[in-house]
This record gives sequence, C-alpha cells and structure tokens, in this order.
Amino acid sequence: MVPALLRVIRTIRPKYACRACEAHVVQAPARPRVMDGGMATTALVAHVVVSKFAWHLPLYRQAQIFSGYGIHLDRGTLGGWGRTGHRLVAETALRAAARLHPLAAAGVL
Ligand SMILES: [Zn+2]
Repeated sequence: MVPALLRVIRTIRPKYACRACEAHVVQAPARPRVMDGGMATTALVAHVVVSKFAWHLPLYRQAQIFSGYGIHLDRGTLGGWGRTGHRLVAETALRAAARLHPLAAAGVL
C-alpha cells in the first residue's frame, strides 16, 4: 500500500523585460486551474469528492485528516472544492452522454 502524498506544487513564472525600453514585459501565461483563483489540483478535488461521496467521509472529518498532515483547510474550502468537483463530473457526464446520443454520432448535434 502506498500512503497518500500531499505536495505543494509551486509554479514560478518569471517576468522578462526588454533592456532597451521599459515597454516590453513578458510573462508566460499561468497554467489553467480546475477553478479560478484556487490552488487545488484536479487530483485533490477528485480526492475530496471521492472521500465524501464514495467513502462517506464528511468534510469536517476530511479537514481533521488534512490537519493531521499539517495542512489546515476549513470546511468551506473543502465544500467549494466539492462543488467544483461535482460540476466537473456533471459536465463530463453530459459530454459523454451527448457523444453517445445517436444524433451526435450522426454529426447532427
Ligand atoms: Zn523593448
């Protein structure tokens, strides 16, 4: 058995400026996130959702478990991740269902 591994992934995006003038400053765009302004990865959101709905682990218990790893998250944050995960699952299921629809297969949808 491999125990859960929680990591903080730090993304460094340096800004580069043109030495000749101060008008040109460039920076690589940030990678898309599963939620705007959030730092949770897709894997962490999936973990929270699966723990809640498949293993019936309430958010306050998940917060206690994360706290045991030294990561302090409040239930509101976990709830927000749960709602995001729920939305992603629903959207993915809708896309999959739409692909299976006979009209979609015929190229009509
Ligand atoms: Zn320049």
